[in-house]
Parts: sequence; structure tokens; C-alpha cells
Amino acid sequence: MRKNIVAGNWKMNNDLEASLKLAKQVAKKVKKADVKGTKVIIAPTFVNLERVARATKKSKVKVAAQNMHFAESGAFTGEVSAQMLKSVGVKTVILGHSERREYFGETDEMLAKKVDAALANNMKIIFCFGEVLEDRKSGNQEAIVESQIKNALFHLEVDAFKSIVLAYEPVWAIGTGETATPDQAQDMHAFIRKTLTDKYGAEVAESISILYGGSCKPNNAKEIFSKKDVDGGLIGGAALNADDFLAIVTAF
Ligand code: PEP
Repeated sequence: MRKNIVAGNWKMNNDLEASLKLAKQVAKKVKKADVKGTKVIIAPTFVNLERVARATKKSKVKVAAQNMHFAESGAFTGEVSAQMLKSVGVKTVILGHSERREYFGETDEMLAKKVDAALANNMKIIFCFGEVLEDRKSGNQEAIVESQIKNALFHLEVDAFKSIVLAYEPVWAIGTGETATPDQAQDMHAFIRKTLTDKYGAEVAESISILYGGSCKPNNAKEIFSKKDVDGGLIGGAALNADDFLAIVTAF
């Protein structure tokens, strides 16, 4: 059985005080709601990771980084390695977010190296990908998504691949208020699962959690999550409010 996961990507929001406050609120509400069967993850900015990881250590909420570098150490000013994340108690990393690809020039090739570095450090990965609006309009979305997955992940042996969580995030739906319809999400998730089946076999494909991301909110999460190939969400804006985030966490 694959896991249901709801992960909050806080992006470049919340200073230390606000991060601790939100993390504690989320942990408390997750406990109160007695959330079972759904893994809850929050991803604060790098500087607040250690404090948030410590503050949530005894809770069910796990902490993830929003990015990392592929090198172990060295002359990479401003970057953070997998080993550094692990040393502050962070064992999960989001890789390939469209904002990293668009604003920081991350390519499939770089992401393949980041994936390898994270796995070499036994870190869990939430790997993001998705088409831009022009690709969707021209009907090219499946080809784009397939190439993003293949280029960054299909060099992996099956055992390594099994530990990856995928996040389909149509770029046109991120932070825009425009959501893929539940059927659009399901169609793409089914296509992704078929792509995984062709490469790694049905058993592996069925075991991989595929999250949807893109303006997922309390009012649409239930319907999106009800689709058979949608195993949860990667949440941006709505993850900055504990009540909204919890409403999404409990939408299964
Ligand atoms: C995201 O940044 O991954 C995201 C899905 O953002 P939003 O929910 O704000 O669209």
C-alpha cells in the first residue's frame, strides 16, 4: 500500500519566530485531529530547519528541506549539502520544484545529480516536475512530464527508485489560484504511473506515492485526493496557515 502524504512547502516565507509558531500549531493540530494514515511534512527555509526540526521532533510532523546541492562540500557559495541537512535532523528533501528550475536554472541533469546525492545520504526525496502553460495548451504535457521523470530518475536501480515520492505540479497552477481539475490531475497521475510501470513494473509503480501540487486548497483537496492515482498533495500558499493546512491534511 502506498502512503498518503501532505507536504507543506513554505518557500521563502516565515522568519524564525513565525516558523516555530506555525510548526507548533501544525504539530498540535495534527495530534488533536489524530491524523492516521497520512504522513505530514513541512518544509521551512534552510535557516529555520534545525529549530523547526527540534520543535517538532516528538510530533508526527516531519521536516523537509526545499532544496540541496549535489556536492558533499566545497566551493559552492550559498549552498547546502545533504550531509549538512542530516546533521541538523533533516532526512527529507524537495527536489526539482518549478521555482528552482525557472529562477535558479536547475536542469534535469543537475537534478539527477541531486537525486543521487540525496539517496547516497539515505535521504527521502519529494521529486517535483510539471509542464508550463504553453505545453498544456499545445497538448504536450505528457511528453514533457515523461522526459522530466526519465532524465532525472530513470538511471536509478529499482530499489533506489522505490524510495522516491513524486509530485506532479503543473506550473500554470502553482501560486496562481488556478487548479488542475480533479480529472486533469487523475489523467496525468495515471499517465505517470503507466510510465513507471513501463520502466520498473506494475508492483513498483503501484507502490510509489504521487502527490498533486498547484493551488490545492481546503475547498478542492477532498475531490482531488479522492482520485485513485492521487496520493496526497504538495501545498504552497495554503501551508502557511495551520487551519487551512490541517483541512487539507484531513481531506482524505
Ligand atoms: C508549490 O509551491 O509547490 C505549490 C503547489 O504552491 P501553491 O499551493 O501555492 O500553488
